Amino acid sequence: MSEKFVDSGSTVPTFIEEKVEWERKPADIDANLKNYDEACQDFDWKEVEARFDWHKTGRVNVVHEAVDRHAASWRKNKVALYYTDEGRDEKYTFQDLKLLSSKFGNVLKKLGIKKGDRVGTLLPRSPELYIGVLGINRIGAIPVPLFEAFMEQAIEDRMENSGAVAIITNQRLKQRIPYDKLPAMKHTILVGAKGEMAESVLSEEEEASISVGDSGALYVPLEKGEVSYEEEMSSASEDCDPEWLTLDDGLIIHYTSGSTGRSKGALHRQYAMVGHYQTSKWALDLRDDDIYWNTADPGWVTGTSYGIYGPWTLGISSVVLGGKFGAARWYKTIEKYKVTMWYSAPTAYRLLMGAGEKVAQRYNLSSLRHICTVGEPLNPEALRWVRKITGLAPHETWWMTETGMQLICNYRSMDFKVGATGKPFPGTYATVADDEGNELPAGQMGHLVVKPGWPSMMQTIWGNEEKFQEYFKIKGWYLTGDSAYKDEDGFIWYAGRVDDVIKTCGERVGPFEVESALVQHPAVAEAGVIGKPDPVRGQAIKAFITLREGHTPSDELKREVIQFVKENLATHAAPREIDFRDKLPKTRSGKIMRRVLKAWDLGQPTGDISTMDD
Ligand code: ATP
Ligand code: MG
Repeated sequence: MSEKFVDSGSTVPTFIEEKVEWERKPADIDANLKNYDEACQDFDWKEVEARFDWHKTGRVNVVHEAVDRHAASWRKNKVALYYTDEGRDEKYTFQDLKLLSSKFGNVLKKLGIKKGDRVGTLLPRSPELYIGVLGINRIGAIPVPLFEAFMEQAIEDRMENSGAVAIITNQRLKQRIPYDKLPAMKHTILVGAKGEMAESVLSEEEEASISVGDSGALYVPLEKGEVSYEEEMSSASEDCDPEWLTLDDGLIIHYTSGSTGRSKGALHRQYAMVGHYQTSKWALDLRDDDIYWNTADPGWVTGTSYGIYGPWTLGISSVVLGGKFGAARWYKTIEKYKVTMWYSAPTAYRLLMGAGEKVAQRYNLSSLRHICTVGEPLNPEALRWVRKITGLAPHETWWMTETGMQLICNYRSMDFKVGATGKPFPGTYATVADDEGNELPAGQMGHLVVKPGWPSMMQTIWGNEEKFQEYFKIKGWYLTGDSAYKDEDGFIWYAGRVDDVIKTCGERVGPFEVESALVQHPAVAEAGVIGKPDPVRGQAIKAFITLREGHTPSDELKREVIQFVKENLATHAAPREIDFRDKLPKTRSGKIMRRVLKAWDLGQPTGDISTMDD
């Protein structure tokens, strides 16, 4: 713990408080969670447990709850997954997912993969990826999702650490897997490579219907240890009962984003579904008639907790858009599917903002009824902008790979303040504490901590129990590594990562509020703020910024921007130094990597950058 809060005494709630101006009063909104305060009073996770079949039968498997039970109900023909990209436009009902994940389960079984084995997934966002994860879960094995943009080192680290015995991937991505360094990895299931059998087995019609994914290669001879997804699926049986597990058996291993250092593998257990289910219901406010679009890739925890387990245990229809980000494609997706609930990230909202209003106006976004955000703090400017184009304010959800589920949120039926992260999810307790674990009074910055025991908390850091114990080094609390303060009304305000908090002239400044003040300036698109060693001030604030379309760097603009922050935030919180950049270093999940900015500034090595975007 490099930062000390205990001796602070200083307060930095410099945010200008602003209530969201609602078109409708939250009280008039027909939300699943009607009244936050009441819900907190009599909340009992046991009641949520009773929503699952395992509660009656004692037989546990998330695939039963997310797929099979819907396939045996009126939701059987309901679309679970709408998939689209430049070349594909497909729909899968719950029944389809049952059938396909059963087939894939049998493919894995045939390879000898069994309960508890780890199986990697390295695929673009595509139906095969979702079917893959479900098939792995079905047989009680543990999925280890990899983001498709990972290069060799990132893949090696995760596959080596998890001891994965197999991987589902495609011809293009396979080239990046360093098999010689992964002795445990025995099998590769290749999507879009039909292998040698293909010609004799498939009819012309079947051939035409087979997706080549993005491998672009139909007749690639399979190498040792490889099987073709399409071939194996075509002959696999449709019967594959879920492997019955206990609530403590593995659900998934997710590696963290690597924003603050080397990525950690959080092992989650089956019981986590209880948290996914209830937060999807109350924070995402999902309903049976929703068309839900979560833009996160299953390579990150948001793409599974809220791209697979949460929405599907609730029986919701989800949209998945393959391919890269593009403002027009994104708006078009909302219009095409009449998306009602949209879950995305601040980086995406800032990119949409950067693309301007004209493109937004070309599309009909009126189907939307609720928007949520995660991953980074949402700059007030981005919130206002989304609200301007959709009429809806994005609601923050704060959580971590390790927490498995959303823990601090702004709820649809609750009035909230622009810039505030929200309030603890009913049935959980999060607060702000000093180094000794004493809760701090309102307005004082400290460690964001959570009372252990929420349903989706990780079981361990895979292969690193010592690291796991570090999260509990303040007695009685789970230590998030984030800093925050509370206000008089019980709202938690995120300030930044503990290690990123800047101590300047005896004051603590969270980088987030400086960044938010910066992007409020009309010329600034994105900002990353760090503290650099300063003999007089302790630390001096330095900002790295990118400019919006139509603006060029100049010394005058620097002075203007600094003045702007002084006037809008506080003199002591204004940057002393500004660096213009074309791009900021970000993780592939879109988070600004302040540790890289610090390293750049000091001319030091950047450390592990395997999760950094190009
Ligand atoms: P690593 O742990 O590997 O350094 P990471 O912390 O970015 O990477 P994740 O688990 O993906 O990995 O992200 C969790 C972190 O993201 C939180 O600790 C917090 O700093 C940030 N975060 C998530 N949601 C929010 C939010 N709504 N507001 C502010 N910060 C958020
Ligand atoms: Mg983290």
